[in-house]
Amino acid sequence: MRNLKVDSQRLWASLMEMAEIGALPHGGCGRLALTDLDREGRDPFVRWCEEEGCTVTVDSLGNIFARRPGRDPSRKPVATGSHLDTQPHGGKFDGVLGVLAGLEVLRSLNDAEIETEAPVEVCVWTNEEGCRFTPSMGSSGVFGGLYAPEEVLEVRDVDGKSFGEELSRIGYAGAEACGDHVFETFYELHIEQGPILEAAKKQVGIVTGVQGFRWYDVVLKGQDAHAGPTPMEVRRDAMLAAAHMVELVIQAGRARPPHGRGTVGHMRVLPNSRNTIPGEVHFTIDVRHPDPAVLDAMAAELLQAICRSAEQDSVDIETTEVTHSAPISFDESCVAAVRSAVERLGYAHMDVVSGAGHDAVNISRVAPTSMIFIPCANGLSHNEEERIEPEQAETGANVLLNAILDRAG
Ligand SMILES: [Zn+2]
Repeated sequence: MRNLKVDSQRLWASLMEMAEIGALPHGGCGRLALTDLDREGRDPFVRWCEEEGCTVTVDSLGNIFARRPGRDPSRKPVATGSHLDTQPHGGKFDGVLGVLAGLEVLRSLNDAEIETEAPVEVCVWTNEEGCRFTPSMGSSGVFGGLYAPEEVLEVRDVDGKSFGEELSRIGYAGAEACGDHVFETFYELHIEQGPILEAAKKQVGIVTGVQGFRWYDVVLKGQDAHAGPTPMEVRRDAMLAAAHMVELVIQAGRARPPHGRGTVGHMRVLPNSRNTIPGEVHFTIDVRHPDPAVLDAMAAELLQAICRSAEQDSVDIETTEVTHSAPISFDESCVAAVRSAVERLGYAHMDVVSGAGHDAVNISRVAPTSMIFIPCANGLSHNEEERIEPEQAETGANVLLNAILDRAG
């Protein structure tokens, strides 16, 4: 069964139906995790899967698994999926595409009356976005053994409501222990959320891995002084020191193209008064690279450089590593299955590294995993104007279908 294709119109209709749940005025979606709207999005997904003859189970973190049986009951499932929750001002496709393309794969297999050897499963991971409950990707994180279940179930939102209480309230606290489900393979189809594929005029990104990152907090201490009487050469200006360091952070990314990234996204200036030389500045550093050795060297060199810079600017410096995430290389055989599907289908493609985190990163800890990207307009995501065309959704789903068939037999 080579080069089977999905039903593009049916996939698009499902995407548009889901987009009505939590629809926002500017075309986006606000369907925060574990709200009533989250339930309203999950319910039709479960119904649609059951209508296709799937068995649906839910685990203790609210992750949903819809299983289409295979011929060989001893085989573990070939799985796919993503998330249905969104940012407060999210788009219609971030996560949702991966879930509903999975559903469309099940429907297409049924239409073509294909019986696979291995079962095929479509999953929904709870709270990928992490905007209501931190951490993001917590439920796939429990599944992948990164967190204990309580660590995620006990976190509270700004109103003091716990993840666990809200999960029970919407009726998705399942009986199965999270992580008990074993996959043979996991694929996640997702929009790129960046501009690289569109700029290169490629239809598909074969995702070979995910960027690792390191986050630091930096505190600079100089001396508050009057902006008038204090001569330039005697100042201990924490803002000047910070300005030099921002340049170094950005340079650390620029010096390692194409994947290096360096960002200062947050800064606090004290006392924040127009006629006082700032005596104290706090800022954040985010550095990223897909190669663990390069990322380590990049972070070490950067920290040395900013310490030298602090000395030259006569300020004291304190740096703290806040968190880090190791780079991931996806499973080679999964990447190869995606590549062969893309080539057979004849789509323009390139290899890419994901700059954003995804549930697939956590699943890759426990199952051979890889991802498929399709471009989105102007690389825009986490924005109501996030946009793809129906043909692009179909392209991604066709690759997913054929990669799944490759493994499920
Ligand atoms: Zn997403």
